[in-house]
Amino acid sequence: MSERESTYRCDACGETRRGLPAGRGLLLFPRGDEVVREEPPLCDKCALAINLTALHRFVEEEEEG
Ligand SMILES: [Zn+2]
Repeated sequence: MSERESTYRCDACGETRRGLPAGRGLLLFPRGDEVVREEPPLCDKCALAINLTALHRFVEEEEEG
């Protein structure tokens, strides 16, 4: 098996896809004094779902305040 095309594994659903990630999640892990930043690749479906989730959370927070 020789794949010259770049592939990535979606961090959310675990599917291996060809090409470039549709989006990236952003994860921040506080570690002591520094914050470790990770941007896992996401397929188009998961990128959309996560963006909607983030937007939804943002709206909820706004309503609470
Ligand atoms: Zn996915």
